Amino acid sequence: MKTYIYKRLTVLFSVVITWFLACSFTVVIDAGHGGHDPGAIGSIAKEKDLNLAVSKRLAKLIEDSCSDVDVFMTRKTDVFLTLQERANFVNKHNADLFICVHTNSAENKKVTGAETFTLGMDKMASNLDVAMRENSVMMLEDDYKTTYQGFDPNSVESYIMFEFMQDQYLDKSLQFASAVQQCFVKTGRVDRGVRQAGFWVLHKSACPSVLVEMGFITNKEEEQFLASEQGKQQIAMAIFNAFRSYKAALEKRQVKEEKEEVKEEQKELPWTLPEEEKDKQQKQTKSKEKKEVEKTEEKKPAVASKEVSKPIYRVQIFAVKAPLKAGDSTFKGVKNADYVKAGNFYKYMVGNETDYQKALDLQKKLREKFSDCFIVAFLDGKQISVKEALEKK
Ligand SMILES: [Zn+2]
Repeated sequence: MKTYIYKRLTVLFSVVITWFLACSFTVVIDAGHGGHDPGAIGSIAKEKDLNLAVSKRLAKLIEDSCSDVDVFMTRKTDVFLTLQERANFVNKHNADLFICVHTNSAENKKVTGAETFTLGMDKMASNLDVAMRENSVMMLEDDYKTTYQGFDPNSVESYIMFEFMQDQYLDKSLQFASAVQQCFVKTGRVDRGVRQAGFWVLHKSACPSVLVEMGFITNKEEEQFLASEQGKQQIAMAIFNAFRSYKAALEKRQVKEEKEEVKEEQKELPWTLPEEEKDKQQKQTKSKEKKEVEKTEEKKPAVASKEVSKPIYRVQIFAVKAPLKAGDSTFKGVKNADYVKAGNFYKYMVGNETDYQKALDLQKKLREKFSDCFIVAFLDGKQISVKEALEKK
């Protein structure tokens, strides 16, 4: 009985802790560019100023109406920050969400609209120009090649490293990015959609993160809108509404998961057991424990094994909200896919490789059928980021 009470208290304690943690949420807002880096330049405005003005408004909106949210801004004035400094700031504050605010530019002055990026490889080639432009800021630093580990923002080859980038935050980043675009559409912005590309600042931030391109400074009308007080407020309001709906959805999911967890624990830990049943169970447990001890002793090698567990790479082909029957058309003929349940999703995966290169080959093959499939990594049955897995080699 003592053990039951102890276990029960542990469960309650962990629920309280989870609840407490769920109550505080940290968001970092990053106004792109600043100081001697103006970003894109329009005819009446500079990108750095528009980004800062909208970021400040967004921070205020969140602060004023979400008392459970801590808001941090990478910059509040017109100062230069390196991309690495921005990412470090996010990680130092243990952020739950990172929002980078930027303004777009194009040679074609007719182009208008808002788009929101997450880190990733999907159709990356078509978005390479935006990533190159935003990453090229690093060239303003003296020793950028050392700081950014040889990454050359203008070389297409450098972007191959973003093959490694599909990580555990992608689902949430995409969720928030879609919410932003939906809210932009509601305020009448031209919808250029959710996109993916290799942004250094997103790559180095250990949380769900997006980069919003609010509109084109190179389009006369859009520049005027973005430079106006009303325009800035509308953009900030749209991102704020997206933040609220993203956070609400996240909390709903968390509460549901916690309830399910408690139910599971309760199943395992009945408050009381009939005396007879208790005796029987205790005897069974004791004899099982004894057997297990005997078994382990039998198997114990003379010298302790030095073998370290290796990460396993798999390719996630899609995620759905309900498990599928074998042979379902969604598999597109791919056999041997199984799922890992995460939150409300069943993530279907193929392959079981200890060699990352083999996983890459498998991903390449699978891309013919699942264009946005990506590599995930596990260590001892627990999902870890691919980057982490590669570092364990
Ligand atoms: Zn920018």
